Amino acid sequence: MKRVFALGIVVLSGLLTMTVAAFQAPASTAPKSLDIVKLRDHLYVITSSSPTPRESFSGGNVAVFITDAGVTLVDTKLAGWGQVLLEKVKSVTNKPVTTIINTHTHGDHTGNNDAFGKVEVVAHENTKANMMKMDAFKGKEQFLPGKTYKDKLTLGKGKDQIDLYYFGAAHTSGDTVIVYPALRVLHMGDMFAWKDGPLCDRNNGGSCLAYPKTLANVIAGVKNIDTVIPGHSPMMTMTDVQGYQQFMTGLVAAAQAAAGAGKTVDEAVAAFDIANYPGYKNERVKGAMQVVFDEMKK
Ligand SMILES: [Zn+2]
Repeated sequence: MKRVFALGIVVLSGLLTMTVAAFQAPASTAPKSLDIVKLRDHLYVITSSSPTPRESFSGGNVAVFITDAGVTLVDTKLAGWGQVLLEKVKSVTNKPVTTIINTHTHGDHTGNNDAFGKVEVVAHENTKANMMKMDAFKGKEQFLPGKTYKDKLTLGKGKDQIDLYYFGAAHTSGDTVIVYPALRVLHMGDMFAWKDGPLCDRNNGGSCLAYPKTLANVIAGVKNIDTVIPGHSPMMTMTDVQGYQQFMTGLVAAAQAAAGAGKTVDEAVAAFDIANYPGYKNERVKGAMQVVFDEMKK
């Protein structure tokens, strides 16, 4: 698995490589601190940071959903942050963590599944399969997902209801998006990590080619959303998700057109006008376009 990952890194480029490396980074020795923000009465977010600089990278946004039955955490950040994560949960509730949902397999979203005692771990069936390949879970199989689903799964009811949806491959082959219907909140995980090219992790079944359709499925499939929790950015709205779908449609079309015309990835990047997408960066556009080129070759 390590060797497969190393090969993937060679194929990926520039900042994208740093991102992948950050998922695997050993825990930093710097003092650890996390911020927690209140989204709704019973929903908090322990916020993320950018993967760079690496010293302060804790992993993705974590949702803390306080239900009658206990706390449901969505994602668990990078290994080594479990104690700080637990302290942040305790700062807003006395209830124990009873359920963990992993939006996908990466170590910056699954790194502290073992920090809360006995819990029920829930994920998409493809994410469970991806997690079973991770060295981090060797000998810790009890913290792999014990409950999985294929298309949709509902946990709890009424104000405590959580709906898990699978809309297709994108960042990985097992990206879960979560709706808290009573709170009108959507948790996107790394399918929408930031306003830039996504990491399409082909080693874990991700697909840049499928990305626009999968995002369109999300937009068509969820309703009544006021707030969106992205993977690694401050809170957003459905308008931002729609903008991301348009950005990815444009990015994939530009890469496909360039590849079809025998052009290079660099030429594809140069022809893609990021100014058409206000607020967007192009630090990771090249990496995403490279994946489109690679997917078209197979
Ligand atoms: Zn990820």
